[in-house]
Amino acid sequence: MHIKMPWPFDYFNKSSTMTDIQSLIRSNIRSLIPYSSARSEYKGTEAILLDANENPYNYPYNRYPDPLQTRLKNRISEIKAVAAEKIFLGNGSDEAIDLLIRAFCEPGTDNIVSIKPTYGMYKVCADINNIEYRDVLLTPGFQPDIEKLIHIADKNSKLLFLCTPNNPTSNSLKRDNILQLVKSFAGIVVVDEAYIDFSQEVSLLADLPKYKNLVVLQTFSKAWGMAGIRLGMAFAHEEIINVLNSIKYPYNINILTQHTALDRLTNTTDKDKWIKTILSERQKLVNKLSVMPLVKDIMPSDANFLMVKFDRPREVYEYLTGRKIIVRDRSRVEMCTGYLRFTIGSESENILLLEALNAFSNRKD
Ligand SMILES: *Cc1c(COP(=O)(O)O)cnc(C)c1O
Repeated sequence: MHIKMPWPFDYFNKSSTMTDIQSLIRSNIRSLIPYSSARSEYKGTEAILLDANENPYNYPYNRYPDPLQTRLKNRISEIKAVAAEKIFLGNGSDEAIDLLIRAFCEPGTDNIVSIKPTYGMYKVCADINNIEYRDVLLTPGFQPDIEKLIHIADKNSKLLFLCTPNNPTSNSLKRDNILQLVKSFAGIVVVDEAYIDFSQEVSLLADLPKYKNLVVLQTFSKAWGMAGIRLGMAFAHEEIINVLNSIKYPYNINILTQHTALDRLTNTTDKDKWIKTILSERQKLVNKLSVMPLVKDIMPSDANFLMVKFDRPREVYEYLTGRKIIVRDRSRVEMCTGYLRFTIGSESENILLLEALNAFSNRKD
């Protein structure tokens, strides 16, 4: 049981620009002497590499990858207009989520605050690390309940996870709400922007210089079309990035991933074209679904998926699976009762989905 205190109380009367990152870090991590490879100590370019017991043959795969992914970060820095020193790259956003928890939350003592419903990985990572997870239901308008989030937090609340656009509710959290939490929460606020490229809202990246306790997560898994290479980004103050770098596996991003990502980042036109197509496909799907008697509601979406309500969602889900169309059943999630989650597919995939739903309506059983 945590102690409820009147709001606002002293703990939240802090200036987030003043957040003392060092004091939030777990003490064993603060005093950690990280693994250091000879390769990361050598700053030159051409060299005879006899330091890491690699095989001299089979270039380039014989070599360990750059542990700090300098070239890739420099390119991301250009695209995102964030200094390379403020970027962490992980094996998916999932690595960044896990490392943030391990850097800041003492197992058995500290806790994490979050919204509900939201992305399942925050709680799974908290559970794996034996960190208490306190989530607060969204308001009826699907926004964070600021007062309740602040009530439920205490001096051991080190991280606050927000997701915008939120998965699974598909709406964006209002910028004012997020910033109010960033300003009042005494720990680190992690804003997961996995779907930001599909959103009408602007990213919080430009706000990083103002808030030392803000972490923005983005990923190459969605708009960039590279879920298979496992590459996620965390943007934050250097003090936070340095902690993540000190506890990650030294070679967490492999050569194939670094090369493939750099290749893809040489131009951004494909990505921009994909986003446009997906958004127009989303609109087409909304138009078609909203006139189906079968469909009871569609949540307004700011992402690349739709939450669609049915009277008998499980039957629809199983019927679609029988036709080899796999969707996500969110019908038993709080505030999502009756909803299935459809990722926006290609034009032909979306047509097949609509055909299958029509066939379901017309079936005789
Ligand atoms: C898909 C998704 C991610 C992406 O995770 P990766 O590990 O980068 O693939 C992150 N956050 C949310 C909310 C997502 O839905």
